[in-house]
Amino acid sequence: MVRGTFLENEPMSKHTTYGIGGPVTAFLYPVDENDLETILKFAHSQRFPVYVIGSGSNLLVSNHGFDGIVISLRKTFKELRIPDRNVYVQSGVIMSKFVKECAKHNLTGMENLMGIPGTLGGALVMNAGAYGEEISNHLILLDIMSTSGKKKRIRKKDVVFDYRYSSLMDSKEIILSAEFEFDKGVKEEIQDRMSQAITSRKTSQPIQNRSAGSVFRNPPDTKPAGYLIDQAGLKGVHRGDAEISAKHANFFINCGNATAEDMAQLIRLARKTVKEKFGVYLNLEIETLGFPNNFFDA
Ligand SMILES: Cc1cc2nc3c(=O)[nH]c(=O)nc-3n(C[C@H](O)[C@H](O)[C@H](O)COP(=O)(O)OP(=O)(O)OC[C@H]3O[C@@H](n4cnc5c(N)ncnc54)[C@H](O)[C@@H]3O)c2cc1C
Repeated sequence: MVRGTFLENEPMSKHTTYGIGGPVTAFLYPVDENDLETILKFAHSQRFPVYVIGSGSNLLVSNHGFDGIVISLRKTFKELRIPDRNVYVQSGVIMSKFVKECAKHNLTGMENLMGIPGTLGGALVMNAGAYGEEISNHLILLDIMSTSGKKKRIRKKDVVFDYRYSSLMDSKEIILSAEFEFDKGVKEEIQDRMSQAITSRKTSQPIQNRSAGSVFRNPPDTKPAGYLIDQAGLKGVHRGDAEISAKHANFFINCGNATAEDMAQLIRLARKTVKEKFGVYLNLEIETLGFPNNFFDA
């Protein structure tokens, strides 16, 4: 019996920072690991597709929604303990809370991540990063659960982390919690770096608009994706209510009632134009849910 909150035909527009996405068959907030295990075992036995989200801040969901179960750990997996230089944190903890708590204990290494929206679980899966720092840098171990409900402890070396990539994306295992180890730093310097990160974001990103951050990964050995899209003359271009931000061309924003199809049209346009002008194919950084294969191909 599931003890957590269960929502039927829940629109994903309520659970993504884009504010876009149709209904899912069931949306669940498990109360704890046992509850999550029950849900996963049930879904596995019934062959229901399962998708786990954090805050949906890196996610574009189809307007047709998703025929399956979406699980979020954002409201319930909130424990955070800092006994010394080690930090134990559950995956539903919001990133800014995690960064601030590290700072409060004079632990250094995460300050540049201040301002990245979303949960710790989402950040680890995406290997979120900013200004030269990545969430995986100080990671020691992870407690994960397989989609069939088996719990396992793994060490950092068991996971491949790369630029906005972790092998957890492929294994689809669910992150329950993580442990980090940090060095002690100087309080004022930590605070300064956090403030700088926030200021840089405010100046360069359209943070007052609905977005999912950078749409494309920066391609290797060339200019950043935002620069290429800008140089392709696409800043400010819109399809319906979706717009390539005039402030940062790798941020596509929902100016009101944008649909997933509007966003998809901009994605295809950016891919096609950048490929034609610069010979570079842009890979998506955002995750997508509920779309047919090759839907975003230019
Ligand atoms: C304004 C803005 C600025 C941003 N700036 C940055 C930035 O500077 N750097 C950066 O890296 N990102 C940035 N992002 C993108 C986004 O915030 C990060 O990728 C974030 O880490 C995603 O966390 P989330 O909880 O919202 O994950 P979601 O979007 O909910 O999910 C992302 C992926 O992780 C998976 N996932 C989530 N939780 C779990 C879990 N517990 N176990 C297993 N899988 C899970 C999902 O299935 C999905 O594949 C930005 C986004 C916005 C809106």
